[in-house]
Amino acid sequence: MKKLQNQRVMRYYNSLGQEVDQSGKPLATTASLYKLFVLAKPEAGLIVAGSFALLVTTAVQTIAPLFFGRVVDAALKSMADLNRTVMILLLIYLGGAVFSLFRSWMFTLAGQRFVARLRKQLFRSIVLQEIAFFDVNRTGELCNRLASDTQEVQKAVTVNMSMLCRYLLQIIGSLVLMFYLNAALTGVLLAIVPVVSLSAMQYGKFVRKIGKLLQDRLADGGTVAEEALSSMRTVKSFSGETKADMLYSDCITESYKIGKKLALAQGSMDGLFSLLAYGAISAVLWYGGKLVYDNSQDPNTGITAGLLTSFLLYTLQVAMGFALLSSLYGDFMQAVGASVRIFALLDRKPDIFVPSNPLILSSLTGEIEFKNVSFTYPSRPETQVLKGMSFRVEPGQVVALVGPSGGGKSTVVSLIERFYDPNEGEILIGGCDLKLLDLTWFRQQVAMVSQEPTLFACSIKENIAYGREASMDEILEAAKQANAHEFVLQFEQGYDTLVGERGVRLSGGQKQRIAIARALIMNPSLLLLDEATSALDAESEYLVQEAVERAMKGRTVIVIAHRLSTVRSAHKVIVIDRGHIAEMGTHEELLAQHGVYKKLVLRQLTAGQPTRNED
Ligand code: ADP
Repeated sequence: MKKLQNQRVMRYYNSLGQEVDQSGKPLATTASLYKLFVLAKPEAGLIVAGSFALLVTTAVQTIAPLFFGRVVDAALKSMADLNRTVMILLLIYLGGAVFSLFRSWMFTLAGQRFVARLRKQLFRSIVLQEIAFFDVNRTGELCNRLASDTQEVQKAVTVNMSMLCRYLLQIIGSLVLMFYLNAALTGVLLAIVPVVSLSAMQYGKFVRKIGKLLQDRLADGGTVAEEALSSMRTVKSFSGETKADMLYSDCITESYKIGKKLALAQGSMDGLFSLLAYGAISAVLWYGGKLVYDNSQDPNTGITAGLLTSFLLYTLQVAMGFALLSSLYGDFMQAVGASVRIFALLDRKPDIFVPSNPLILSSLTGEIEFKNVSFTYPSRPETQVLKGMSFRVEPGQVVALVGPSGGGKSTVVSLIERFYDPNEGEILIGGCDLKLLDLTWFRQQVAMVSQEPTLFACSIKENIAYGREASMDEILEAAKQANAHEFVLQFEQGYDTLVGERGVRLSGGQKQRIAIARALIMNPSLLLLDEATSALDAESEYLVQEAVERAMKGRTVIVIAHRLSTVRSAHKVIVIDRGHIAEMGTHEELLAQHGVYKKLVLRQLTAGQPTRNED
């Protein structure tokens, strides 16, 4: 069982498609932190203001230890000296605190603005991708990029950037002052720098590699969770809680294993830095102590106790600066990984042909012609789904697509909606190649009502008017036409009733009627219907059917038919089997052929369909 689970999880990893395009090739990883900074340009003002404040606070921090030493020496002289020196120190601190406030405020604000813009851009880039992109990229994975990758990057370009500058300045400033105070003592301290830098570099490389792995595994977990949580009914109806639980926990265990390595690396690095820092402090203490001793013997040699105090504080400041820099380096490397994934999406051009001069026809009559159309789904390049298909639909005709499940009926409809482009042949709309039409305009002329329509988690009113801005009168009219008005009025909130997660759950028939209203409000020239295969209760079925028939009037309709009454009244029936047109004609003509169609009719069109006593 466990092995099976793992295989399943492995399949998720392999099918994530995150760094591949639709043909499976890796996407270019041209991203870099530089590109992120370019993206953060609008925040330049805030970042400059923050950097100025940062400069002041760092100066305060750098200069403070000098005054600590002066305080010690002043205390050894007189009370008046001590009071004056502490007063100056307090004033310096006060100034520092004010600038600290500005620094933090400016950088955090810049970060929030940046991440908000980045998320909007990223989401826009995602929704503009072609449907094939969504066949290979999972929702959970994409949501993860929107939520956590952007967060990583936000931290890197703003807060981390400010910290980086701060610690660098702090280290440089401290070192300059230390040289000024005593060059020999500084030399003792600097002996550890090469060791620190080398280990920091190694550590950074490791974190970069493992950070990416960690993010990838977490994204896998997100995908598994998203799938299970969004299909809770299916999960529960198959008692799949344990299975879902195991899948998710497998993913999380994987990420935990990586996290364990990261923890050990972090610990070792911290340990090493502590050892080096304490070693350096001890060396400075010993050598500095000796210089203080020399000074007590002969005031012309060595250094004062106050100076040693200042020096020690600088030593601590430099050591701390280095330690914090190393952890920042790790964060930066993680952000680089996240930015690679973000740019792979931001820079991705939707793989769909856009004509240089998109055409808008004066009217769309609904005339459709498939000319020798062949098609293979980009996500399944090994299987050709449609093979040289040719047929015509005249304006105002009702054409029924029938055939065994998996034959290619929905694919034909997807091609008409131009979710995909054919690999061979062409689809003509009103005599014009579909690819040359303005896609937004074309889709406004077409409406689709699917078997299990998706309604959005907003009000019924907003659902009906999803396709275009519409007045309340238009919404009411569409709902009446779709036999939805009566039941909507029965809800306490009427058309303002929320649908879905936070609102009422609609029955299958009610959802369909809202979907019909949503289609009708577009006043489409071409109606695409996918008849429900699952049986509705008799009352609901009657109301849906009546609404569908009303919706079909005066329009060109392509219907994936499951009901005998639909095929019988269609102008043309196209039998699609394994990607071919097996038979084509009217119901009567096809029955007379005693072929596939007749067999289908005898089996109520599709195998396993609930039998309807209509014939
Ligand atoms: P029908 O509507 O007649 O049941 P479909 O058009 O849905 O048939 O499917 C035809 C074939 O294409 C099937 O083998 C199906 O597995 C495959 N298919 C459908 N949708 C996709 C997709 N988005 N990606 C890859 N293959 C698909």
